[in-house]
Amino acid sequence: MKQSATFIPTLRETPADADVKSHQLLLRAGFIRQNTSGIYSFLPMGKRVLQKVETIIREEMEAANSVEVFLPALQQAELWQETGRWYSYGDELMRLTDRNNREFALGATHEEVITSLLRDEIKSYKKLPLNLFQIQSKFRDEKRPRFGLLRGREFLMKDAYSFHATKESLDETYEVMMQAYTNIFTRLGLNFRAVIADSGAIGGKDNHEFMVLSEIGEDTIAYSDSSSYAANIEMAAVNMEYPKSEEAVKEMEKVATPDQKTIAEVSAFLNVSQEKCIKTLVFKADEDFVVVLSRGDHEINDVKVKHATGATVVEMATPEEVKELLNCEIGSLGPIQLPASIRVFADNAVKSIVNGVTGANEEGFHYINVNPEKDFAVEAFADLRFVQEGDQSPDGQGTIRFAKGIEVGHIFKLGTRYSEDMKATFLNDQGRATPYIMGCYGIGVSRVVAAIAEQFQDDSGFTWPDAVAPYEVHLVPVNMKDETQRTLGEELHELLKSNRYEVLLDDRNERAGVKFADADLIGIPLRITIGKKAAEGILEVKDRRTGDTFEWNREELLEQVQ
Ligand code: ATP
Ligand code: MG
Ligand code: MG
Ligand code: MG
Repeated sequence: MKQSATFIPTLRETPADADVKSHQLLLRAGFIRQNTSGIYSFLPMGKRVLQKVETIIREEMEAANSVEVFLPALQQAELWQETGRWYSYGDELMRLTDRNNREFALGATHEEVITSLLRDEIKSYKKLPLNLFQIQSKFRDEKRPRFGLLRGREFLMKDAYSFHATKESLDETYEVMMQAYTNIFTRLGLNFRAVIADSGAIGGKDNHEFMVLSEIGEDTIAYSDSSSYAANIEMAAVNMEYPKSEEAVKEMEKVATPDQKTIAEVSAFLNVSQEKCIKTLVFKADEDFVVVLSRGDHEINDVKVKHATGATVVEMATPEEVKELLNCEIGSLGPIQLPASIRVFADNAVKSIVNGVTGANEEGFHYINVNPEKDFAVEAFADLRFVQEGDQSPDGQGTIRFAKGIEVGHIFKLGTRYSEDMKATFLNDQGRATPYIMGCYGIGVSRVVAAIAEQFQDDSGFTWPDAVAPYEVHLVPVNMKDETQRTLGEELHELLKSNRYEVLLDDRNERAGVKFADADLIGIPLRITIGKKAAEGILEVKDRRTGDTFEWNREELLEQVQ
């Protein structure tokens, strides 16, 4: 590619409104431009890096038996209403109305769309498992879009969804995805860690985040200094469970007042039995543990034990096991559920929960501002303490340290959360209609570009790793008016291209200083300068990352590339 023909609007000054290194340099080196808050255009260099990231992701997903599809970004509201997320997703969901007043969302994620697609197509267990992925723009009306590509309102995501007849099959695919993600982030040259995470509004069971270690990361990771233990100590304490209908939302809003205090009052208000109301949650804290008693993924009597010190699901246990473990009485309330999205992590988490949201495992019954003292049994909250640096790691190996991380990937076991709501079933080997068991697997493709940009730069510009560099070789004739230099530059350009090198030829009539400064900014791994010694066939080669320079003569170069 000739530089005169492409579009690389480099800037000499650091843009004032960019406050992290990656964003500054992506702007300065002419890779991206902001359109409006959280919305960016990728210019030719940025697009090439993005595409290389995509290619690596595609290769590893395909190697892991995931197959590419392309789903609509414009999604009818009805799908989101089926799962209740039309009401619970909140302001992050971009909503719009068509000319006939039908409501739509711009895809923030695609669980609804893909589940609705498969429910009509896959009827038999014989067709499972199936793992589909896409690479597509996602839209989220982030409250605070910032740090350039790191938190956009329109951004590129790779999202994959797997469908299974059995839990074992999901477990297997989850492991395969875990490995695929490890391969992807390793190939991208990122310094990352897979951490145990909790699920936000998406819901579900086991999940891991892939975190790039970085000072500017918005997440805090607690990890052991001498084992592979690592967990996200996200601060979100309480999220709302999903109400299932507009009426339910209205009901919820009505009860969401501080004076709706007791279950008796709530049950009278909603005209449902107290028992139904009360089937919500019990907390029992014993030193480091918060116990969440849950029907989990609709499996009666699943009990989650959360380690309050590390936000870690330590294990799944039966009620009996928990009883034994913590010596607590749980029988009185029967099967109990804490909405999957209530989480207990941070210093003020307990307080938040005391004024929290609870959800019955019944359609639409969720209450804000419940009072645990009055509404259900709570014991020993005071004894809670939270993880600190220097604590012993929960796996008994080593000491807890904290680090900042950028979430670049997230994998979940969704279970039947979506397939049940959407009545997406297949016939199992006994001919019984059964909801698919699902997993989902996301990577923030454009965020990854920024994470790499953050990690690979020096004072003069980018130092891209080979895997994602926009080009492999930058040919820089110092003076295009010099016939020898120009001809040699063009000859090498053709030669490298025909040998399948990705090469950029700086054929601009710019001063040498400008050309070199731009070359350093853009950060192509190998720069070949064609200067005064061109007449003798000598080229100056510079390794952008190490700064090493050496000379090649023209013949050596030809030998190298042919
Ligand atoms: P975050 O915690 O950063 O808001 P998330 O947990 O909401 O991210 P997921 O729903 O797990 O995001 O989406 C999968 C991936 O998409 C994330 O791991 C992240 O890499 C990427 N991603 C999410 N939100 C954004 C955004 N606003 N801009 C760029 N990438 C994003
Ligand atoms: Mg988010
Ligand atoms: Mg997150
Ligand atoms: Mg996430």
